[in-house]
Amino acid sequence: MKVIQHLEEAKRTLFSIEILPPLKGDNIQEIYTTMNELIQFEPAFVDVTYHREEYVFRDAGNGLLKKHTVRKRPGTVGICAALSNKYQIDTIPHIICGGFSKQDTEDALIDLHFLGIDNVLLLRGDAIKSEGRFVPEPDGNRYAKELVQQVVNMNNGKYLDPDLSNVQHTNFCIGVAGYPEKHFESPNQQMDLSYLKQKVDAGAEYIVTQMFFDNKKYFSFVEACRTAGITVPIIPGLKPLSTLSQLNILPHHFHIDIPQELTEQVLRAKSKEEIQEIGIAWCIEQSKELKAAGVPCLHYYTMGKVKAISAIASCVF
Ligand code: FAD
Repeated sequence: MKVIQHLEEAKRTLFSIEILPPLKGDNIQEIYTTMNELIQFEPAFVDVTYHREEYVFRDAGNGLLKKHTVRKRPGTVGICAALSNKYQIDTIPHIICGGFSKQDTEDALIDLHFLGIDNVLLLRGDAIKSEGRFVPEPDGNRYAKELVQQVVNMNNGKYLDPDLSNVQHTNFCIGVAGYPEKHFESPNQQMDLSYLKQKVDAGAEYIVTQMFFDNKKYFSFVEACRTAGITVPIIPGLKPLSTLSQLNILPHHFHIDIPQELTEQVLRAKSKEEIQEIGIAWCIEQSKELKAAGVPCLHYYTMGKVKAISAIASCVF
C-alpha cells in the first residue's frame, strides 16, 4: 500500500520507522531484531536508508597510499524486499542522486517495480565525505526535484530511451525531505521552501522532516509550508538523543539546534544511562505534543537504538 493511502486512511497518528542497512559483512539478523521488537507497535511503513560510496586510502605496500571506493552499508533494496516478505509490511527504499546516472536510477526503479515496492523517498544525498560539495554524476540528477521528475516520467510511461514503446507504467508514491531548520546549503528559509515546493509541484506526495528537538520548529515549518502553498502531509522525523557527544555531533551533521533546556539536562546527568533516559523522556514529550496536534504520522530514526524507540512507542502509541 502506498504511504499516501496510509496517511489518508489513518484514523489516528501512525507510527513509522527508518532503519539503516547493517555495515557490510554484518548479518541481516540485526534488522530482524529491530523489527521483532517494534512490530508490536504496528509500524505503517519502514524506510530503509541508502548509503553512497566513500573513499578510503590504504597502504599500497610501497610507501604510497592507494584510493579505494567502498560502500559501507549496502543492501537497501534487499532489506526492503526481505522485510516486505517476512513482515508483510510496506517498505520505502531511499533513492539518492549521488553516484547514480539517470540510467542507473531507471534500472534501480525497474528492480523495485518488479519487486512490487511502490514507495520511494527521493533525495539528493550529501557530498562524498572527502569532497567539500555535492557533485552529481555527469549524466545524473543534480537535485532531488530532478529525481522526482524522473520517477513521475516513469509513472507516466516515459523512460529515458525514446525508442521504447508500450512500456510498463510504474506506480511509485513519492516522498521527499524537508528541513524545519533549513537545509544547510540554502541561502535562507524562503529559498529552501521554494525548492521544497518545486519538489512537491514536480510530484512528491508527502514530506518527511529532518529530525528536530524543538516542536516549535516543526509547527512553524508546517505553517510556512502552508503559506507557501505546500499542501501535502508533512511527517515529523524524531530521534531520541542518547549520548553526551551528540550535543555536538547532531548539530554538526544535521545542522539542527539542541534546545538549551535539553542541553542543560544532559550536562547535569551523572551517567550514560541517565542521558539515555533524558533523551527518551524528551522524545516522549515531543511525540505526545505532536500527536495531540494531530500530525499524520510520527516517524522515528532508529539508528540502532531499538530499545529507546520501543520505550518511546510504548508510551505514545
Ligand atoms: P534537494 O531537495 O535537492 O536540496 C539540496 C539543496 O539544494 C538544498 O539546499 C536546496 O534548498 C537546494 N536546491 C534545491 N533545488 C535547487 C535548485 N533548483 N537550485 C538551487 N538550489 C536548489 N541522505 C542519504 O545519503 N541517504 C539517505 O537515505 C537519506 N535519507 C534522508 C531522509 C530524510 C527524511 C532526510 C531529511 C534526509 C535524508 N538524507 C539522506 C540526507 C539528504 O540526502 C541531505 O540532506 C542532502 O544534503 C539534501 O537532500 P535533499 O533531497 O533534501 O536535496
